Amino acid sequence: MNCCLAIVLFLLGALVPGAAQADTPSDAKQEAVASIDRQSAEMIGLSDQIWAFAETALREARSAAVLADYAEAQGFAVERGVADMPTAFVASYGKGRPIIGIMGEYDALPGISQRAQTTRQALEEGAAGHGCGHNLFGPASLAAAVAIKELIAAGELDGTIRFIGTPAEEDIGGKLYMLRDGLFDDVDIALAWHPSDEINADTEGSQAMVSFAVEFRGRAAHAAADPWNGRSALDGVELFTHAINLMREHVEPTVRMHYVITDGGDVPNVVPDYARVWCWVRDSEHTSVDKLVERARAAAEGAALATDTTSTFSIESGSYEMLVNLEGAKIIHANMSWLGPIEFTREEQEFAREIQRETGVEITGLRSEPEPLDLTRRAPDGGSTDVADVSWVVPTLHLSVTTAAHDAPWHAWPVVATGGMSIGHRGMVYAAKVLAATMVDLYEHAEQRKAVEAEFEEQTRGFKYRFYIPEGPPPVPAD
Ligand SMILES: [Zn+2]
Repeated sequence: MNCCLAIVLFLLGALVPGAAQADTPSDAKQEAVASIDRQSAEMIGLSDQIWAFAETALREARSAAVLADYAEAQGFAVERGVADMPTAFVASYGKGRPIIGIMGEYDALPGISQRAQTTRQALEEGAAGHGCGHNLFGPASLAAAVAIKELIAAGELDGTIRFIGTPAEEDIGGKLYMLRDGLFDDVDIALAWHPSDEINADTEGSQAMVSFAVEFRGRAAHAAADPWNGRSALDGVELFTHAINLMREHVEPTVRMHYVITDGGDVPNVVPDYARVWCWVRDSEHTSVDKLVERARAAAEGAALATDTTSTFSIESGSYEMLVNLEGAKIIHANMSWLGPIEFTREEQEFAREIQRETGVEITGLRSEPEPLDLTRRAPDGGSTDVADVSWVVPTLHLSVTTAAHDAPWHAWPVVATGGMSIGHRGMVYAAKVLAATMVDLYEHAEQRKAVEAEFEEQTRGFKYRFYIPEGPPPVPAD
């Protein structure tokens, strides 16, 4: 490098806060990263346990317990069973401001049990599996919180660190109930990450979505002897889904609509008097989703009218689109640049390529380098998260880290496979380091915190967050 240019860059580095920290990390930041290295064996232990438990939404009893126990052993004050959900908990350490909250998920997906290998084989036939990598999500966030706790305890950082254990992301959106109960109200800045097939300071966000059910009620009759006396509730469902499928041509290309028929009658020789369809609609913004839901509601009424049945339309849950915080993304990206790539081994790259061969996607292995920072605010790809709801209430920083083969199917066996072995472990440890380093910046630099908060204030001015969840307690299963 030319000597004058080097001096100019050095001076620029001294003037730009983000650049300065990327070049010369503070002692606290280096200690936070060292703490993650020290905790890595315990993180892997927690993650492998949660991977094997593979507990689905609101049934994550053992998964939540191992994380809450670890937090307690590290000196956090732990409150279990918050927001009327036995598997939700909050672990706090420190006092005063800033209060930084870091979220951790740990729920699995039904029916995708898988061994940690490159071909499809269930660990336990029909059981659940961690097809979204949440077994890695919880431990990485918690380890980052512990790293911050150690620095607060040593008097190197001031404020409060809070790990927020959020169940049921894959189903009802546990964070919505926690938001409703005010558990995020005093948090200054929240952080979350997500397992992914690339490393990214997420600026793309996530889709808004609404989950609703339509129930049809008709009249039972013998399907051959006196079908004229019957009115088929299944006909109502079929006509409704036909309307949804015709709607596809007349919605924006960013819209996603998908459904399952959860109840369609029992046997063909009885005209079903009850049928139910469960449907999700998504788009880039919640205002568009609200309009789609109204169109679906009208379609349900029309289907009932045409089939001489009745329909009940119930919104079960829904999430907003993620409010992307670009100031936060800059801090995350600077820390990813400082940490550099994830060093996957040749065996791990080959493991990923085997999965790519098996699933018929391009054979490129694992993405190990952080992606360039994209500040364009482009429309999100498909997918939603209840982290997005938090992002409208508290400034929220979000990142993705490679834990799976690039482009291999998500919510599917390949993600379970890599999440249960060293590829996932390496991504988890890396995520914890980025989270810990980013939090150190937020504690140490009030001006960076203020920049994040100012962007949030600007984006939410005059806005009132409105829950999609129905009134009443969360639908915790009885068993
Ligand atoms: Zn997920």
